[in-house]
Amino acid sequence: MDQEANSPELNDRELLRYSRQILLPQIDIAGQQRLLASHVLLFGVGGIGSPAAMYLASSGVGKLTLVDPDSVDASNLQRQIIFRSDDVGEEKVTAANRTLASLNAQTSVHTIHAALSGERLRQEIAKADLVLDATDNFAARFAINEACVETGTPLVVGAAIRFEGQVMVFPMHRQSACYRCLYPDLGDLEESCTQTGILGSVAGLIGCLQATEAIKLLLDTGQSLANRMLLVDALNMEWRCVTINKDSQCPTCANPDRTG
Ligand SMILES: [Zn+2]
Repeated sequence: MDQEANSPELNDRELLRYSRQILLPQIDIAGQQRLLASHVLLFGVGGIGSPAAMYLASSGVGKLTLVDPDSVDASNLQRQIIFRSDDVGEEKVTAANRTLASLNAQTSVHTIHAALSGERLRQEIAKADLVLDATDNFAARFAINEACVETGTPLVVGAAIRFEGQVMVFPMHRQSACYRCLYPDLGDLEESCTQTGILGSVAGLIGCLQATEAIKLLLDTGQSLANRMLLVDALNMEWRCVTINKDSQCPTCANPDRTG
């Protein structure tokens, strides 16, 4: 975040724009400067990623990188609220960039219309202060998690299906669990909303929770969901938290030689 090296004084326009969150003692002017100097990398501009990106931009996160290989489909509009009806057929990252620019031109948005893998994935993650995973498949989640473990980059994962959602935070300290600790056996994990369906507002709820956890981590305030998983059953409106234990045999994070 380099807040010491990169903390210009807030001008009057910024003080007004962000005044309601600057009033919060956990944020204050120093926290706002820190947000403005932060870089968040978001994978998946979908039902979860849409509100997450919008809240991060509106709160003044200085730089957002959006990664998504898809184009906007009419069936996305029910939940992917960063898009407008006229955006159908356009690259998601391009259409999302337009919404974010109108929301807060102060946020610098970089777009990658691709599904990153390998060294390119690791390089992009290494450049970010924090990663939000809002993808919809396990292969992408495991690859993002692995690169975050390797680079020691904090990771916030969100997932939603039907009326249910979950949020997890992995600070990627030496002692923290990683996403793969949850799933040592890959087995038959695939289940997507393409076949199963999802209520748009539930995806939005998870995206809002992800953005909240991201801001807390960037500001190093409050108690994060680190090593916990928040499970939301919106149909019965029941919320619960379960502990995620670090797996000493985890194929991704058990290597004691890794840094972080
Ligand atoms: Zn692990």
